[in-house]
Amino acid sequence: MTDDIKSRIATDLTGRSALVTGAAKGLGRAISLTLAAAGAKVACIDINEESLAETVGAIRAAGGTAEPMACDVTNSARVDEVVDAVVKLWGGLQILVNNAGITRDNMILRMKDEQWDAVLNINLKGTFLFSRAAAKPMMKGRQGRIINIASVSGLMGNPGQANYSASKAGVIGLTRTISRELAGRNITVNAVAPGFIATDMTSALGEEILQEIRKEIPLGRLGDPQDVADAVLYLSSDAASFITGLVLTVDGGLTV
Ligand code: NAP
Repeated sequence: MTDDIKSRIATDLTGRSALVTGAAKGLGRAISLTLAAAGAKVACIDINEESLAETVGAIRAAGGTAEPMACDVTNSARVDEVVDAVVKLWGGLQILVNNAGITRDNMILRMKDEQWDAVLNINLKGTFLFSRAAAKPMMKGRQGRIINIASVSGLMGNPGQANYSASKAGVIGLTRTISRELAGRNITVNAVAPGFIATDMTSALGEEILQEIRKEIPLGRLGDPQDVADAVLYLSSDAASFITGLVLTVDGGLTV
């Protein structure tokens, strides 16, 4: 095997800086730990800084580099400030993972304006704000990876999730458009669409519903946060340099 092929398979992100939103727990925690294990310096973003202590502590304990930064992803001025701070700290930003997201489920007839607005603001507007802010330093560095965490709900729909599936379908449209806008600057933009993954978001559904869900998944299990982190790692790596505008489902075959 040539050294060139070996280095691409090794997924070495040494010297790159990454920013992960919603990094305190669940998928964001697994993604942050995985990018750091591959050598990236990781800015861990969440709504409050104290909640990031565990993720940042785990990265540092393993010898990695991480900085906790508090930011509400819907706060445009703060988003710009955080991206500027990362660029100042590490000299650039090469990888952005828009992961922060919430659910506020309700059937359409009972869905409140506040439930619609909260989900669209955090899941879709937050992804737009961080993508816009990160595009500047990435264009300057002529290198970048933006990975947006969508959901199979944005592809298939899901009863009770009009707000959530609309936000995730929006994330997919946003991903495809900015992949075209930024391709000329060597910036790839892709989405990962997880199915049901074992985190606080899904444990809120209760064991009875989860049993039914498992029966619908060809691989017969919920995903692990690491399954999603591995897909993000791949899309962040040099091995994925010719992939852009993709929606990669990580769902155990649910959408087949
Ligand atoms: P999670 O366990 O609830 O974690 C989400 C994190 O985002 C939490 O730490 C949360 O903080 C943070 N957050 C919420 N609002 C924020 C804001 N305005 N600004 C900054 N951070 C904020 O969720 P998860 O299951 O890991 O999901 C992560 C992403 O994957 C979401 O986009 C979700 O839609 C997507 N996804 C998940 C699944 C699944 O099965 N778990 C499936 C498909 C897609 P607080 O806890 O303090 O609010």
